[in-house]
Parts: sequence; structure tokens; C-alpha cells
Amino acid sequence: MSLDSFSASSHPAHAAGDTLADVAIAASGCELCKLAAGRTQVVFGVGRPDADLLFVGEGPGEQEDLKGEPFVGRAGQLLTQLIEGIGLTRDDVYIANVVKCRPPGNRDPQPDEIEACAPWLDRQLVLIRPRVIVTLGNFATKLLLDTKEGITKLRGKEFAFSRAGIDAALLPTLHPSAVLRSGGKALAESRADFVRIKRVLARLA
Ligand code: URA
Repeated sequence: MSLDSFSASSHPAHAAGDTLADVAIAASGCELCKLAAGRTQVVFGVGRPDADLLFVGEGPGEQEDLKGEPFVGRAGQLLTQLIEGIGLTRDDVYIANVVKCRPPGNRDPQPDEIEACAPWLDRQLVLIRPRVIVTLGNFATKLLLDTKEGITKLRGKEFAFSRAGIDAALLPTLHPSAVLRSGGKALAESRADFVRIKRVLARLA
């Protein structure tokens, strides 16, 4: 499954207006997949609408569903620390997810849900036009790199992302929830990935 496969569809994201705010309003009423039934609200994304650095996670958890903002729970606190560790704040970047509604019980998003939601992320990418995209974990990495390769093989590397006139560097890294579960070595790998992110950003932004 790749983002390209959704670009020609009649999905409402493609008719939602020309600003992130327009697209967020259209997404807020989305009922295109079964996740709509269980959500408190759509968690569209947060940050600078013209950010050079875009983070893409998997999907909202309980805290995010309640607050309407991505990465505000424990994993979010770690992500915030990693962002601040390279001299940035959450306000300097944009943070989004592959699916915009909470999967029940924090289960993995399913292929039909990812497919229904991907055009919202596609519109975010096209409107933000980031220079550097950081995919957090397997789901975002597989979708944006159109690969079946797992995150442990791909993290720490830099890939070229090119679509709809956007040329960006894509750097996969571990999902902060996985880092919290695994501890020591994973945290060191994350920190090393963020140092690389900072270097690539300095080169491209
Ligand atoms: N995990 C994610 O992938 N996204 C969030 O917003 C929160 C936790």
C-alpha cells in the first residue's frame, strides 16, 4: 500500500480546500472507516503548517483521542524530549499519524483503515511540504516508503521521498512506544537517529 495509490481517488480529502485548517475541518467529520464509531474525536495533527520537519506516527491512543492532539501520552512525552534534545520544540515541527482515529484498545490499525485514512495524510504532506519526514515505527514507514521491510532494518538510514513535487529526506526511526517497552539499547538508537535527523535538517532546511 502506498500513498500514490490514493491520489486519484474521489476521497473527500482531495476536495477539502487548500489549507491545512480546511482539510482538518473536513476530516473532523470523516466516517470512511469503522474507527469513526469508537472515537471521541478525529486527531488530525498539530504543529507548524509550514514545518520543515514532519513526524508521522501510527494512530492516536487513549490520551490523544481525549485531547484531540497526537502524541500527548507517555510515548508523546518521550517524543517531545527527543525533539527538544535536538534543540527544537513541538511548535517548530508538525506531528501527524497514519490513522486519525483511535483503534479500539490501541490495537494495530488494519489495512482497510489505513487505506481509508491515507488521503488525509497525503493532503497534509502536500500542504506542509516538509524537507525531512520522520516515520515513527512500522506502520508509517511501510506506508510512506511503500516497503514490507521492518523498522529495525530501516531505522538509522536516510531515504529519498519524492511525490507530488515534494522532495524530502525520509528517516525511519523506532516508535516511541516501542522504545518505552524496550528501554536502554532502543533509547540509545532513538537518540542516535535524532542526531542524524538534526544533521539532515541542517543540510536541507
Ligand atoms: N502513538 C502514535 O502512534 N500516535 C500517537 O498520536 C500516540 C501514540
